[in-house]
Amino acid sequence: MLSCPVFIGGEWRELSGIETSPVFNPSRGETIAEVPMGGADIVNEAVEAAAAAFPAWRETPPVERARLFFRYRQLVEENFDRICQSVSREHGKTLAEARGSVYRGIENIEYACAVPTLLMGDTLENLARGVDCETMHQPLGVCVGITPFNFPAMVPMWMFPLAIACGNTFVLKPSEKVPLTVVMTVELLEKAGLAKGVLNLVHGGRECVDALLTHPKVKAISFVGSSPVAKYIYETGTRHGKRVQANGGAKNYLIVMPDADVSRTVEALSTSAFGCAGERCMAGSTAITVGKAADRVLPSLVEVARAIKVGPTDIASQPVASLVTSGETEGAKVICDGRSLRVSDAPNGFYLAPTIVDQVQDKMTIAREEVFGPVLNVMRMEDLDHAIAVANKSAYGNGTAIFTNSGRAAREFKHRVKAGMVGINIGVPATMAMFPFTGWDQSFYGDLHIQGKEGVQFYTQQKVVSIRWFGDDVSDVWRSSK
Ligand code: NAD
Repeated sequence: MLSCPVFIGGEWRELSGIETSPVFNPSRGETIAEVPMGGADIVNEAVEAAAAAFPAWRETPPVERARLFFRYRQLVEENFDRICQSVSREHGKTLAEARGSVYRGIENIEYACAVPTLLMGDTLENLARGVDCETMHQPLGVCVGITPFNFPAMVPMWMFPLAIACGNTFVLKPSEKVPLTVVMTVELLEKAGLAKGVLNLVHGGRECVDALLTHPKVKAISFVGSSPVAKYIYETGTRHGKRVQANGGAKNYLIVMPDADVSRTVEALSTSAFGCAGERCMAGSTAITVGKAADRVLPSLVEVARAIKVGPTDIASQPVASLVTSGETEGAKVICDGRSLRVSDAPNGFYLAPTIVDQVQDKMTIAREEVFGPVLNVMRMEDLDHAIAVANKSAYGNGTAIFTNSGRAAREFKHRVKAGMVGINIGVPATMAMFPFTGWDQSFYGDLHIQGKEGVQFYTQQKVVSIRWFGDDVSDVWRSSK
């Protein structure tokens, strides 16, 4: 069994005598660790440690805070393979997919290294005669990160590097399903020279989250997870006076026009829908084919989906298969069926092979609910107007894409579609560290998104200082030097 300690005030500690929850290697179906389900006591200790560390960390010059993350970046790079193996073991995505996601995390560390520049304010001389004005960006205090199971390294790295580089202290609560990689990544930050209490790690579920949401010393909460929980986090956190950014779930539409490049579109659809076992908030979940696009694209897409090798380190689960069955019952056609897959060398693993459900109608359950598995719905529409209208009915608004060779169609689509991240001939238009992760509607609750300049704004408060100096002494010196 692997160990799953908490990290509070610079000390690692195993918690005993409290409830635990199993951590699985989903590709083998084996329990690899027991995570302690912490409650209000452990949260209080962690928040107090973060609060005690804040005054000194706030005074640490931004260039020194940035240097911590330059060293951290180096250590994450040196331990890259170990981290990726851990991501793959506890989440189930392939090693190649784990590598891609950890690189996205590293880019967030790199962005945090730019904090001396990112924190620079504005000035205006002679706001009035003899009065100057300047802005400053100051840290908030104790910030909290609550993360989901699908990206064990990357999503925490969306949060704590930038928050800490901005001068805040932090309490991180990873998903209880994937708490192990985070332990490794926090150990590396400690090795890079983290001051005691600046980053703290706790484990748990709802009780732990509630204690974080209501703790009087917590100033801000970053959350990534499903929409119902994101809404709950936003409502509870803001009611208790916290600043909250809460990313939720998604249902992403990929529109395929009749003039799309077939082989490149098939490759993009397949990666978008089936990559990372479909467990991505940016996964393409419904392809809307326009006119003859279905006939051009679907035969090769089915071929590509059937050829994807599924084995240890690919996962899926029972609820996903049930949603596929609901689609069938409501009249859709399963044209590539992954439900019956058995993997001989991992008989207990949680598997589902790539699945394509054709002739989906927008009233069906599978069309409305987030599936979060390697399943692509196909809807057929006569023109782009109808395709955009269906996509825009979604309650979510995370990512979307169009595949076409027509600049006119692409322009129309990007202008009218209701989603925060748009791809043109790109199947997973997830933004990188320097751009905000701009979910709309039920994919995001809050005002300032995670990542990019909005991330810096979220983790800082602005002060505007108006300055006037009285007295003749300075002007006397000025006169005498003439
Ligand atoms: P989840 O909402 O079940 O859990 C996320 C976190 O919330 C975990 O740390 C968990 O312990 C906590 N939590 C769960 N239930 C809670 C409750 N009732 N009260 C308080 N806290 C609770 O999400 P998940 O299954 O771990 O992750 C998958 C979801 O995350 C999908 O919906 C996916 O689309 C979404 N996601 C969104 C983004 C994005 O940027 N929009 C990125 C990754 C994942």
